[in-house]
Formats: sequence, structure tokens, C-alpha cells
Amino acid sequence: MSMKNRLTILSLAFLAVIFTVVSCKDEAKPEPIAQETEKDAPPRQKVNVPPFQADSAYAFIEKQLSFGPRNPNSSGHKQCKEWLHDAMSQWADEVILQDFKAQTYRGESFDATNIIGVFNPDATMRIVLAAHWDTRFIADYDPDESRQEEPIPGADDGASGVGVLLEIARNLKAFPIELGVDIIFFDAEDQGDNSGRNSESWCLGAQHWARNPHKKGYTAEFGILLDMVGSKGARFTMEGFSMQFAPQLTNQIWNLAQSMGYGGYFVKTRTGPITDDHYFVNTIAKIPMTNIVNRPEDSQTGFGWYWHTHSDNIDVINIPTLKAVGQVVLATVYRTNNGTFM
Ligand SMILES: [Zn+2]
Repeated sequence: MSMKNRLTILSLAFLAVIFTVVSCKDEAKPEPIAQETEKDAPPRQKVNVPPFQADSAYAFIEKQLSFGPRNPNSSGHKQCKEWLHDAMSQWADEVILQDFKAQTYRGESFDATNIIGVFNPDATMRIVLAAHWDTRFIADYDPDESRQEEPIPGADDGASGVGVLLEIARNLKAFPIELGVDIIFFDAEDQGDNSGRNSESWCLGAQHWARNPHKKGYTAEFGILLDMVGSKGARFTMEGFSMQFAPQLTNQIWNLAQSMGYGGYFVKTRTGPITDDHYFVNTIAKIPMTNIVNRPEDSQTGFGWYWHTHSDNIDVINIPTLKAVGQVVLATVYRTNNGTFM
């Protein structure tokens, strides 16, 4: 049924109810009231957003952790890549594995892969949802200096964003829409130089994709990046590059989150810019992309207390936080689909 027909039937049904009520009250004058009702009928259709199952997202995070650290060239990286490919294949219309060589700042070259789930490949109106699936190869902020050269579990930093997006992929299959959606798991985000002097050593998968999108001439209305979206009491601020390159999108999402009762997570406080995958999508691919990323208020590093340590494990993951993020992103997707978002 077309939207117009559905609206017409809904309007007629609504009018019939009004007519009946009015008829009981005042049988002599039903018509003028009925005409007024038609004129005042809400122009927007009801938004049907599926409920986000946070426990399912949590299970997807646990599964990623079961492979061990997922830094390039590790066995966990290989196994997790296969699992992500299989998982996404259940739900997306098409899955593209974009292989590339990640040249790290230490002079190494690793096999890396961006994993892209394409929904509605023929739709011209598209959005991008992204997260990085690799985990950091060292624990440079671990308080135990003897273990700083070991790779981290990356529960929040890596697995959380991927877990939320897998659950969104599952919803897109169960509750299909017409909007084109590309879910991208970027590789080699977290293999960079922490000296602060080499920002291009980070986000290698996003840089590769932004220069070589998975389809020729690819573009999208907007993008949303999820990074470190699973910890208890997370505080998603309006991050500097998101506000510089995608201010309208960022404002709309934060307003939507607040209207949904998630204002405790999505705070309308502007914080400084951080080099994350969205920076390169904004500057190279020119797609306005916002970053939902945890920026705690009282943190020395600017990130969670467990950031780039061995404590970034399943214990920091919190179901209510996953629910808040997942539900807000799902609402953004389904509202974009029916024209009630921006
Ligand atoms: Zn990281």
C-alpha cells in the first residue's frame, strides 16, 4: 500500500470516529467539525522504530572478545574477520570485503580489510553507519608498564560500536526499509602513533575507504560513527570535528536523543576535536559524518579510565548504554527513511 493510500484510509477512519462522536453529541452539525479535523490532521505519519535489543548487541561484543585481541596480523583478527563476514551476510543484501595494505608508523605493512554491509544497493538516497573493528596493538596507557607492549581486548574501543551496528543490521533485515544503508567496519583505526605528531597514522581503513569508496562515485546524505559507545555512564558530547563538518546532523541527533529521554548520555556540551575515522570521511570523502564517542568529564586522557589498557574488557560494557546508543541510531535511520528526521 502506498503511503498516500494509507494516509487517506487513516484520515477516513479518523473522520468516521469523529463523525460518530459528533453525531452522538450534536446530530445536526457534523460536517464543519469533520472538515476542521481533516485540515488539522497531523501531516507526519507515525514513526515505527523497532526496539533495539541491547542484550543482543552485548552478545555480539562478547563474541568478538572470544577471538582475543583483533589487531592486524593476529589470529583474533583473522578469525573475527571471518565471523563478521558471516554475520553480516545473514542480514545485508551484499557484503563487500575491501582488502588493503595497512602501512603503520612503525614501518610495518599488514593485511587489513574494511567490511561493508550494503542494504538496498539500488537506492540512491544512502547513509553510512560505521565503527572500527580492529583493536589496539599495544596497551600504552596500562598502569602495568611490563604489559604495555601487549595488545588490548578492546571491548569498548572497537567491539562496542561493531556490536551495536550488527544489531542494527539484524533489525534492517527483520524490519526492511527503502533507504540505502551502508554499514562499514573500518580496519586499522587504532594502530597509530600516540606522540600526537602523526594524526595520519590513525584511521588507515577510513582513509583507504574515503579515497577508494566501495562503489564508484559513491556518496551519502550523512554518516554516523560509533566509537567507545558501551561503557557505564558514557557521556557523548558534541565533538569538535562533528560540529565543524556536520553541525546540523549532530544537533538533530542530540535533539532526538534528548526527546527520547537519553539526554543523560547525549549531552549538548561541545568538546575538542579528535582524530577518528569520521575526520577522514568528512575531509576526504566529503560526507558529513558525526561521531558518537564517550568523552568523560573528569578524565586525564579525555577518554574512559580503561582506554588503551588491559581493563578495556567485557566488565566495562553496560547494557543501558548500549540501549541508549542503539535506540537513538535506529530512530535516526528509520526516521530518515520516512522523511521525519532532517
Ligand atoms: Zn582506541
